[in-house]
Amino acid sequence: MASLSLVDATKEFDGDGGGIVAVDHLDLDIQDGEFLVLVGPSGCGKSTTLRMVAGLESPTSGEIAIDEEVIHDQTPQERDIAMVFQSYALYPHMTVRRNMAFGLEESTDQSADEIDERVTEVAETLDIGELLDRKPGALSGGQQQRVALGRAIVRDPKVFLLDEPLSNLDAKLRAEMRTELQRLQEELGVTTVYVTHDQTEAMTMSDRIAILDGGKLQQVGTPMQCYHEPANLFVAGFIGEPSMNFFDVSLDGRTLVSEEFEYTLSEETVTEVEASTDLVLGIRPEDVEIAAESGEENQFRAVVDVVEPHGNENAVHLHFAEGDGRTFTVTIGGMRRLDGGQTVGVRFPENAIHLFDAETGETVRNRVFEEVEQVEQLGTSSAAR
Ligand code: ATP
Repeated sequence: MASLSLVDATKEFDGDGGGIVAVDHLDLDIQDGEFLVLVGPSGCGKSTTLRMVAGLESPTSGEIAIDEEVIHDQTPQERDIAMVFQSYALYPHMTVRRNMAFGLEESTDQSADEIDERVTEVAETLDIGELLDRKPGALSGGQQQRVALGRAIVRDPKVFLLDEPLSNLDAKLRAEMRTELQRLQEELGVTTVYVTHDQTEAMTMSDRIAILDGGKLQQVGTPMQCYHEPANLFVAGFIGEPSMNFFDVSLDGRTLVSEEFEYTLSEETVTEVEASTDLVLGIRPEDVEIAAESGEENQFRAVVDVVEPHGNENAVHLHFAEGDGRTFTVTIGGMRRLDGGQTVGVRFPENAIHLFDAETGETVRNRVFEEVEQVEQLGTSSAAR
C-alpha cells in the first residue's frame, strides 16, 4: 500500500529536428489504494509517464516519489512496482506456473513451496487454476492477459502499472475484463495507474481520471467531474461518446450569435461570461431536446440526416435548416422514432450548455451539475433480499 507522486516531472527526448518534450512539467498525486487512469490521444505522453514511474526511463527533471521517498534513482527492481504491458510479455517456453513464479523466485527468498502456494492462490482468484501447466501458446488472448496480471499480483507490489492491458482483446472480453480488473483492484487495494487511450475505460474503471494532451496535464478529477465540469475544450471533446457538440458563437449583449442560430442567455449566465466575446458553445448529445417545431425562444429548426439505432438509444445526426447547415448529433431514447429528411425543432436547455473561450479553450461556464440522485437502499425484508 503506497501513495505515488510526480512533481514537475518532465521527459525530453532527442528528436530529429530538436528535443521532443514527451511529458511536460507533470504534477500528479495518486493516493494510497487509488485507481487512477491516465488517458489521452496517441503520443500524449502516457506510456512515457508510466515508464518513468517504473524506472524504464529517467525523468529529465522533476521528482517521482512513493510514500514521499524519491525513487527515480532506484533501479526498476528496487521500486517494488509491478507493470503489465499491452503485449503481455510472457515467456513462451515456460508454463503458466513458471511464468507466474519466475519474478518471485528472482526477487524474494521465499521457499519453492511458499511460491507455489502463492501462485496457486492467485491463479484461483483469476480463474486460471486449471491452466497452470499449459504454455502461453496454448492460451486464448484473454487467458494470457490473466496470466500477465497474475504474474504482477503474486509479487504483492506497492504500485501496479498497467499499460493498455486490454487493447488486444475483443470488445466483449474487454468489457468483462474491465469489471474484473476493477473488482480485483478493489479487493487487493493496490495503488494503480492504468494507461489507456480509450475514454470509455477511463470513465468506467477509475476513481479519478488524469487527462493528458501534448505531454501536459489537462485535468484530474472523478469521471463525473471530467464529464460534467471539463476544465477546457480539449477535455470536453475527449471525454464522452458521442462527443460533445461545439458551435462557434460571439456574444452580443445577452445573445450568442452564430451563422445558424441566435441563443438568448439569461441575465445570470451573462454575468458568468464576463469579458469573453468569442466563445464556443458546447452541448452533449443527450442534453439536446428534440420536439415538434413550436417557434419558442431558443428553439431552432433542424433536418435529420441519418439515424443510427443502438437499441437502447438512437444517435441522430442533424443539420441546421439555416446558415451553413452545420451538423450535430443528438441521442434520444431507443423507442423514439425519427426519419431521415424530417424537420424538427431542437432546443438547448440553458442549464446544460457549456461555454469556452474560443481563443484559449478554457472553460468560461460549465453546465449546472446538480447533486447526483442516490438510489434508496433496499430494506432488509425478505422480499428485498
Ligand atoms: P500511444 O498511445 O501511441 O502509446 P503515448 O501517449 O503513450 O502514445 P508516448 O509513447 O509516451 O505516448 O510518447 C510521447 C511522445 O514522445 C511521442 O511524441 C513519442 O514519439 C515520443 N517518444 C517516446 N519515446 C521516445 C524515444 N525513446 N525517443 C524519442 N521520442 C520518443
